[in-house]
Amino acid sequence: MPDVVVVGGGAAGIIAAWRAGQLGAEVLLLEKTARLGTKILISGGGKCNITHDGEIQDVLRGFRPNEARFLRPACYRFTNKQIIEMLTTKGLEVYTRPDGRIFPVHQTAKDVVAILKGYLDDASVSVRLEAPVGGMEAQNGRIKSVIVSGEAIMASQVVLSVGGSSYPNSGTTGDGWKWAKDLGHTIQKVHAALAPIYLETPAADRSGVALRDCVLKARLNAKEIARWRGDMLFTHLGVSGPTVLGISRVVAERFSEGEVSLDADLTPDRSHEALTQDIVEWCKENPKKAISAVVADIMPSRLSVHLMDDAGVDGATPSGQLDKKSRNRLVANLKQWPLGRVRAVPLEKGEVVAGGVSLNEVDPHTMASLKVQGLYLCGEVLDIAGDVGGYNLQAAFASGFVAGESAAKSALNLDS
Ligand SMILES: Cc1cc2nc3c(=O)[nH]c(=O)nc-3n(C[C@H](O)[C@H](O)[C@H](O)COP(=O)(O)OP(=O)(O)OC[C@H]3O[C@@H](n4cnc5c(N)ncnc54)[C@H](O)[C@@H]3O)c2cc1C
Repeated sequence: MPDVVVVGGGAAGIIAAWRAGQLGAEVLLLEKTARLGTKILISGGGKCNITHDGEIQDVLRGFRPNEARFLRPACYRFTNKQIIEMLTTKGLEVYTRPDGRIFPVHQTAKDVVAILKGYLDDASVSVRLEAPVGGMEAQNGRIKSVIVSGEAIMASQVVLSVGGSSYPNSGTTGDGWKWAKDLGHTIQKVHAALAPIYLETPAADRSGVALRDCVLKARLNAKEIARWRGDMLFTHLGVSGPTVLGISRVVAERFSEGEVSLDADLTPDRSHEALTQDIVEWCKENPKKAISAVVADIMPSRLSVHLMDDAGVDGATPSGQLDKKSRNRLVANLKQWPLGRVRAVPLEKGEVVAGGVSLNEVDPHTMASLKVQGLYLCGEVLDIAGDVGGYNLQAAFASGFVAGESAAKSALNLDS
């Protein structure tokens, strides 16, 4: 019987297993798929945004306040600097982008996973791949066993790190929530987060075109519910890109409450009045130029055609002949360009899922379940979803470290 069984070999599970092994525990890591760290491999488009730079109190701003409160002890116990040091000690070179996101210099997530696997070897962790856990059993409030292919592996300390349910092809199909619920845990409603948004009437000819530095806003029954500044991309089904991922969680949460629509402010640094004034002056200076030229300065021409159509302005109109009403409609559209009604926020396409095991039922200092003795939970199986920026891997690494450490200390009767 291993001292610690870790279920799920993603970011959280790998670090949990390594830490438990490092402390001297005999560790068995069970992974459903044929390889470890699948989501790390696809993270950051294969480049892996490992974590976020800065002081921990700043890193915690990448989470909602209740999530940040929960993660604080773990993120101080295993910091962003520690995971980077683990990787760089083994030869990975990293760089920090101006926005604080940390990536490998040679831009490959494979290097990150290879190094983490090396740590598992160093800590003598037994890894079983293609070992899908089918359930776990408890007796008298204590964890008793983990079921793999019908076989019960007896276990007194189990770390549950099976992730969420987005990208189900990567192995994450929400298995942990069912087991946690059966063991008495509350599962907070699961929603997409960091996901693309599908529109009811996506315009096929916009697909593939990007908008730079706009403010994307979501409105529920016309009232603003979320906004994010940055780039966005039109897709064949709707919209994607950083701004879209940024608002997707709120949109997914509020979607059932009414009509949710999106619009974009294409000149976020210029007020309505300032933009009007700029256009008036531009028209005075360029009376013979078509008004489409002023819009083409602000956005790609493939999109400006649509915006002019929406504003009811003929792009060929010489600027000197643009009447006030047309100018006002143009300005109104540049400041609040309607992109359409939201059809869906696909859960399976999200980089993470929001929702999961309630944080009220897990000790943030140990990651121990408050419902079942000997059970520890970490990573995305918990009700945590950070922003884009390396926050989610940091949460998985930090909570995994604490879970593995606590499980090993309990198994080996080590002082805490
Ligand atoms: C496309 C994409 C890009 C991303 N990019 C970034 C990024 O750049 N930076 C960042 O911080 N975050 C990123 N994320 C999010 C980040 O990858 C996750 O938050 C993180 O991997 C969660 O770690 P985890 O260990 O909790 O779960 P996972 O990494 O999902 O690991 C869970 C593991 O459990 C296994 N498992 C599931 N069920 C069972 C079972 N029944 N039995 C045994 N094993 C099981 C799974 O196969 C999987 O290997 C991205 C996510 C995606 C999908």
